[in-house]
Amino acid sequence: MSDEKFQVIIIGAGVAGSAAAYRLAKAGREVLVVDRGKAPGAKNMTGGRLYTYALKQLMPEEWQEAPLEREVTREIVMMMTPDSAVAVDSSFASMNRQSYTVLRAKLDAWMAAKAEEAGAMMVAGSTVDGLIVRDGKVCGVKIGEEELEADLVISAEGVNAIVAERAGVIKPVEVKNVAVGIKHVFRLPEATINDRFNAAPGQGTAMLCVGECTKGVSGGAFLYTNQDSISLGIVVDSLSWKNARLPIAEVAENIKQHPAIARYIQGGQLIEYSAHLIPEGGIKALPKLCADGFLLTGDAAGLVVNSGITVRGMDYAIMSGIAAADAANEAIEAGAYSAAALKGYETRLKHLVLKDLETFKNAHDYMVHTRHVFTTYPNLAAAMMKNMYTVDGSPAKRIAGVAKQTISGKLPYFDVIKDIVKGAGSL
Ligand SMILES: Cc1cc2nc3c(=O)[nH]c(=O)nc-3n(C[C@H](O)[C@H](O)[C@H](O)COP(=O)(O)OP(=O)(O)OC[C@H]3O[C@@H](n4cnc5c(N)ncnc54)[C@H](O)[C@@H]3O)c2cc1C
Repeated sequence: MSDEKFQVIIIGAGVAGSAAAYRLAKAGREVLVVDRGKAPGAKNMTGGRLYTYALKQLMPEEWQEAPLEREVTREIVMMMTPDSAVAVDSSFASMNRQSYTVLRAKLDAWMAAKAEEAGAMMVAGSTVDGLIVRDGKVCGVKIGEEELEADLVISAEGVNAIVAERAGVIKPVEVKNVAVGIKHVFRLPEATINDRFNAAPGQGTAMLCVGECTKGVSGGAFLYTNQDSISLGIVVDSLSWKNARLPIAEVAENIKQHPAIARYIQGGQLIEYSAHLIPEGGIKALPKLCADGFLLTGDAAGLVVNSGITVRGMDYAIMSGIAAADAANEAIEAGAYSAAALKGYETRLKHLVLKDLETFKNAHDYMVHTRHVFTTYPNLAAAMMKNMYTVDGSPAKRIAGVAKQTISGKLPYFDVIKDIVKGAGSL
């Protein structure tokens, strides 16, 4: 590494960091990206489905070359009991390439290579330990004994943003504002995946499950089909998990045996196992996004929405990388790096990312406090389906009668109405 001064140093080569680096390098800026992983993406994890509008905005032409796995054209929402499941299964002829399944080791390495190709300098295998701060302004980063100067530093260091935290720019992550995710990736032949999911080559499935998969704890399971592998995992709210005192790794293991899941992954070779935090505090936990000489992007800024049916963080991370690069460009042109000079960053984020965080500001609280969604409703849905299709020689009932018989005494109607009304206002 040289002693020269950079215009921008970016901490982290995840999707936020590489997006910012690509955009800045394209604008001709001297930009350095430092990542602690031995290669960009090596330490990174997602569910995952990437909504591609953000990648298209960043790279209108090149995004088509990105290592995307399968286009999601089938969406399954499933409620699980210990031995059964009820699903809403939707297939679409076309979704206009709006979302693809991804594996981060491939995607991040590709995005980092694109940023390098555009002129950014990438240093992998180095950890930023702290910031250089003079008169309240961030002036660079510390890597061990080494100090590297920059006009601006962008933190794209992910959910546990220790560098920003040590410098006092953000507060430590609170348990109530994060979820925990555990993921397995199973390798299977492409043709086997196509057969099992009834998919044409290139078509992918996204599955979201609630109920038994988290033992009734607020959260859910996800399954994504990649080209020749399947990503399967769970996400649980940290505080709910802590209170339930559940061995979460065991819960993640158990889901593999559930009959509604086992048939899809049967015979698959486990090739990856990972665990990661997800910021879920939303707009209520949003930190200050800029300080003098400093910007926060992606998960480091908590830019994630869990809307109940999907987790979105990668597209917001890319959008925040773009916005941070544009704000940095403005600041460089003006030669002004104060928090006030960087305010354009927040303004840019307001149009989409912060607007979505505001829309779903109550989603996290709703899910944490609506236990029927994860317990009673999946059991009732399965019982209702079973009762509807039971023909045993006793007098037949109309659907309303079956519903009444199923629910009677198991759930106060008032609770259902309350959950529906609150859900309509939150999700
Ligand atoms: C289980 C799970 C499921 C998810 N599902 C989805 C999904 O389906 N769709 C979706 O859009 N989002 C999903 N998300 C969220 C999404 O993965 C994140 O929002 C996204 O990865 C954030 O990207 P980022 O670039 O901000 O941070 P990260 O991807 O975490 O990247 C941070 C980078 O910074 C580096 N770094 C950290 N500290 C330092 C340091 N001190 N020095 C040098 N380098 C450092 C790390 O090595 C890493 O490369 C999911 C998350 C989880 C955990």
